[in-house]
Amino acid sequence: MANYEDNVAIKNFREYLKIPSVQPNVNYDACVSFLRAQAAGLGLPARVYEPVRGKPIVVLTWAGVQPALPAVLLNSHMDVVPVFQNSWKHPPFSAHMDADGKIFARGSQDMKCVGIQYLEAIRRLQQDGVRLKRTLHISFVPDEEIGGHDGMAKFVHTEDFKSLNVGFALDEGMANPGEEFILFYGERSIWQLHIHCTGQPGHGSLLLDNTAGEKLRYVIDKFMDLRQKEKDVLESNPKLTIGDVTTINLTQVYGGVQSNVVPEKLTAVFDIRIAVTVDHVEFENMIKQWLKEAGDGVTYEFEQRNPCVPNTKMDNSNPFWMAFKSAADKMGLQLDCRIFPAATDSRYVRKVGIPAFGFSPMNNTPVLLHDHNEFLKADIFLKGIDIYINLLTAVANV
Ligand code: ZN
Repeated sequence: MANYEDNVAIKNFREYLKIPSVQPNVNYDACVSFLRAQAAGLGLPARVYEPVRGKPIVVLTWAGVQPALPAVLLNSHMDVVPVFQNSWKHPPFSAHMDADGKIFARGSQDMKCVGIQYLEAIRRLQQDGVRLKRTLHISFVPDEEIGGHDGMAKFVHTEDFKSLNVGFALDEGMANPGEEFILFYGERSIWQLHIHCTGQPGHGSLLLDNTAGEKLRYVIDKFMDLRQKEKDVLESNPKLTIGDVTTINLTQVYGGVQSNVVPEKLTAVFDIRIAVTVDHVEFENMIKQWLKEAGDGVTYEFEQRNPCVPNTKMDNSNPFWMAFKSAADKMGLQLDCRIFPAATDSRYVRKVGIPAFGFSPMNNTPVLLHDHNEFLKADIFLKGIDIYINLLTAVANV
């Protein structure tokens, strides 16, 4: 492993992994200092924007030879999800590298690897004297793991972001245990709904009409029937992945006062991820109809409601895709193009009309994001840098 120990890219990766930028209440100061030092080492200007205090967005810029052309944004998030320390073989912020070259740390897959790979690819291009046509902006954002509301969600609406003149973006994807590399071109929309069922209260010994419980049962049945339908669709077609269907889960039920009192109100909470093919207006009308059928006094409110965001085009109307695809083909990469099952910052970027792909070059790697003992092998990490060298060259020369 001696060669890895001396490798600058591995050294930078492990140094970044050792910063415990773990949710909740992340202090991003150490990340910002680290990234400023990286920028200085690469001779790139770094700006720090703070649309929300304490939530810095760090942007390094490598100017292209035609800086008036729309730029390419290379995004990654600085924060990581919490850890259950006792379940880890090696401390999660030690970036321990074992004899196989596995680097263990929270963030090794999600997604400090990608942030460093962007920078190391640029370092190598600079060393080779390469100049790219378009400007590259490398952004490091906060709070993706808690929804990005104070990070990318706000940043895309600022004048600072507009002045970056972004025409295309790359962001995170996911590891794959197989040979293929997964590329995400769209995301489902999250809807989290509280459905309140009100009814006749009374004594628990009676058979009253119009109770909250009867209405709640009707509502749950409707949602669960649709859930089963989607499950059947997914299971009946091996080509489909979870991102292709609508998922529905009953996540909370609350209400009532005590065991022998029929309650005035019961509430069910559903987490729904709406497939990209579903019309949001029709979907909401269907829910409204179910609630009407359930009886009087059944209402709903949104805890979270993501708008419909169109997928990034995967055809010749998107020159960045054509460039990405031909560079991937030249390297012999097998791409598996999918809809992301959860949500990433890409949705905010796509929402303002910028094409974006989710791509983390980690094949032959178990999916360990948010899991115990998250690791990435040094050779896969280094191969990812080679992959970015070609991909960035292709998309920045469009
Ligand atoms: Zn992530």
